[in-house]
Amino acid sequence: MKVPFLDLVAAYRELQPQIDAAIARVLTSGHYIGGPEVEAFESEFSSYCGATHAVGVANGLDALHLALLAMEVGPGDEVIVPSNTYIATWLAVSQCGATPIPVEPDACTYNIAPALIEAAITPRTKVILPVHLYGQPADLDPILAIAHKHGLCVLEDGAQAHGARYKGRRIGAHGDAVAWSFYPGKNLGAMGDGGAVTTNDEQLADRLRVLRNYGSRVKYVNEVQGYNSRLDPLQAAILRVKLTHLDEWNARRCAIARRYEQGLSDCGLTLPFVPEWAEPVWHLYVVQHPKRNALLKQMDEAGIGTLIHYPIPPHLQKAYASSGFLRRRFPIAEQIAHQCFSVPIGPHLNTSNAAAVMAALKDATESNLNRQR
Ligand SMILES: *Cc1c(COP(=O)(O)O)cnc(C)c1O
Repeated sequence: MKVPFLDLVAAYRELQPQIDAAIARVLTSGHYIGGPEVEAFESEFSSYCGATHAVGVANGLDALHLALLAMEVGPGDEVIVPSNTYIATWLAVSQCGATPIPVEPDACTYNIAPALIEAAITPRTKVILPVHLYGQPADLDPILAIAHKHGLCVLEDGAQAHGARYKGRRIGAHGDAVAWSFYPGKNLGAMGDGGAVTTNDEQLADRLRVLRNYGSRVKYVNEVQGYNSRLDPLQAAILRVKLTHLDEWNARRCAIARRYEQGLSDCGLTLPFVPEWAEPVWHLYVVQHPKRNALLKQMDEAGIGTLIHYPIPPHLQKAYASSGFLRRRFPIAEQIAHQCFSVPIGPHLNTSNAAAVMAALKDATESNLNRQR
């Protein structure tokens, strides 16, 4: 049995009549930029997240970038980021002319280690930017306490965590703002690019609305040098349909994660660790093994799709070669990059798919044990 890493067409098929109707509604409305679909999605998504405002933007990277600009981050400033994240988190900081300051993750949860944050704070620090990586909430309370003590803002990268809960409350307004991506493969995915920022801060939301629209509130009157970063109404209409299914689809991901946890407990893989206060939404199911590359080759031969999130941490990327990070070590991020891989999980992976994934993993770990002896 072949199992793809993720089946996005199955997601469309399940909701095809509603999605087709939503698209037709936009096409016949004449509102091709902004308009009622974008406003309705912003209102529905902010309520879902428990935030007072949602501002739609063009993608997740822009959500991070514009949120940092709205927090007045600029050249000379520093922003604390995880050493192990998708590079977008760092790029958003660099795009403001500010410097990303990497902090290592907790080796069990993969999320930024709150105990290491204070040592990274300098007089230039403006923002702490935790990422809810793989769909698991970061430990926000100690992060918020540190931010409060030092007068810093907290911007959360929620791109992988739509619907995840921290201490019973959905991600969306614990910190000053949360940046979201609706990239197609995300738990709440559009059929193209999309993004948003949620916040309870009226002033921040207002700045974001101006920044995303050429720095303009009134047509042809420009207050600041803004950007063109708007959420497409076609994507907003599709996202409205998908938002009504998000909890059910996240529940299906959780059911697969439970199966994996039970079925893979004794085959030498390091499985995800979930703290008691976390309700993850399993954007990715990431495991670790010292012979990762050999395992992946066998998984590929067995027809099971796998990916590595992420093979090269940002500080080792050529993009950051001139920043001096190469001379510094981030051993936890590097170990994760060497040993981790993601196995198929998603709302359209059925139980026989999951069984095939587990059987292939057991075969692969077994034969790599034998070869060691
Ligand atoms: C997907 C992702 C982003 C960027 O989102 P885009 O919509 O692709 O720009 C940012 N941060 C993280 C952690 C992501 O996974």
